[in-house]
Amino acid sequence: MTPTTPAIAASIESLRAAVSGVVALPGEPGYELATPWNVAVPVRPYAVVAVDNAADIAATVRFAVKHGLKVAVQRTGHGAVPLGDDVLLVHTGRLTECVIDPDARTGRIGAGLVWQDVIDAATPHGLAPLAGSSTTVGVAGFLTGGGIGPMVRTYGLSSDFVRAFDIVTGNGCLLHVTPDEHAELFWGLRGGKATLGIVHAVEIDLLPVTHFYGGAVYFDGSDAAVVARAWLDWCADLPEHSSTSLAFLQLPPLPQVPAPLAGRSTVAVRFASLADQAEAEALIGRLRSVATPILDGVAVVPWAAVGAVHADPVDPMPTHEYTALTGELTREAIDVLLSVAGPGSRSPQTVVEVRLLGGALAREPRHRSAFCHRDADFALMVAGVLAPATADDVIGHARTLDRAMSPWTTGRRLPNFAADSDPDTIARAYDDDTWHWLGALADEHDSAGVLRVGHVVRRDR
Ligand SMILES: Cc1cc2nc3c(=O)[nH]c(=O)nc-3n(C[C@H](O)[C@H](O)[C@H](O)COP(=O)(O)OP(=O)(O)OC[C@H]3O[C@@H](n4cnc5c(N)ncnc54)[C@H](O)[C@@H]3O)c2cc1C
Repeated sequence: MTPTTPAIAASIESLRAAVSGVVALPGEPGYELATPWNVAVPVRPYAVVAVDNAADIAATVRFAVKHGLKVAVQRTGHGAVPLGDDVLLVHTGRLTECVIDPDARTGRIGAGLVWQDVIDAATPHGLAPLAGSSTTVGVAGFLTGGGIGPMVRTYGLSSDFVRAFDIVTGNGCLLHVTPDEHAELFWGLRGGKATLGIVHAVEIDLLPVTHFYGGAVYFDGSDAAVVARAWLDWCADLPEHSSTSLAFLQLPPLPQVPAPLAGRSTVAVRFASLADQAEAEALIGRLRSVATPILDGVAVVPWAAVGAVHADPVDPMPTHEYTALTGELTREAIDVLLSVAGPGSRSPQTVVEVRLLGGALAREPRHRSAFCHRDADFALMVAGVLAPATADDVIGHARTLDRAMSPWTTGRRLPNFAADSDPDTIARAYDDDTWHWLGALADEHDSAGVLRVGHVVRRDR
């Protein structure tokens, strides 16, 4: 319990009066919004504030400053961090603004939307947003972490396509942030997560794309070695119009899992290409032929089906995530990965994915951002389900994997995966200059440190 709890309890009515949204204490309707997608994370704030607008966020920030509380923000809880009763949780689910301008090819998107909402709104206009692999992830949380989507090698980071943010800072200021207005915040919000403010709306570019060639080819686990080695060789000269990842999967025998993949070890080659169909087909054909696919979902598909490339889980679940960035991966690296985390390794992980980076991601965008480590060659992403019987195994195995891959990992990480509150872990998402400048901006725009919770950068770690 925080020492100030009785005083807060006495004045919580003033917060209710100050906001048009809903303030919910534990046990009250609305408090259940705190429950994150990753249900393994204990999110038990003092209160949930389901905000209706930017003014509600500002009122929440002011209340928190007055009472010595912190303010965290959550939409879906895909990147949840533990929160206790010293925190007010701003829930953005009611911020559902969505205005598509087909002529300008832009979208103004409330922080309460997830990518599927934006896809559904943009598709009728023949336009597409640069969503992530999971279309049920929140737009604002994804973009403030940079945003690596299934076409990342072709287009680069999704946050490179942001035109403007509307935010509430830790000082309670409502700011419209663009490359020309508060340019330093425009730099820092793209990669700095909630360090510099809570986003209530974002303006993004939309792409005039309706279809792409992509999906996933699945192989039996017994073919993992031949597929993984061929995939690595194939990545070496994959053109920038194509993005890919390799995943060792152990999907549960559930009705929503396609029968050929359920309850067994498989290997997926994920592929998303903007090349013309013949060229894309020839490219993936080289991998299709290295073993016999058990399921082949690669074809010309509407952009609206972009979530099918990775087929990430939709329903909330208790997960443990591990992530790392790597330099060049050698044949030896893939063999180590196979032996520690591939089929037959007794890995308890549900997904062990290697995403090829590079291409457009590696180039600095027109407006530089606080997203770092564009030079990484691959991202390693691992997720395991924390069932009571296997929880310790999953966490211990992730550490083993980390050690085994250390000859190839860079010690750096992405801001978006495996959410963490540990300042040293957070610092690994940035180079030293970026970390310093994010911290300096945070001192200026959040002078009371009210947003200092979860993945935020502060210089006095
Ligand atoms: C299954 C799965 C698939 C994923 N796929 C991808 C992927 O392909 N590419 C990728 O880059 N990431 C991916 N992620 C990571 C995801 O982008 C991050 O976890 C992101 O933070 C989720 O945002 P959210 O709002 O849905 O989650 P939440 O847990 O609600 O928010 C997580 C954090 O995002 C920040 N945030 C959220 N809303 C706001 C806001 N309004 N203003 C400021 N900051 C905010 C805060 O730091 C917050 O703590 C994936 C995660 C999962 C679990």
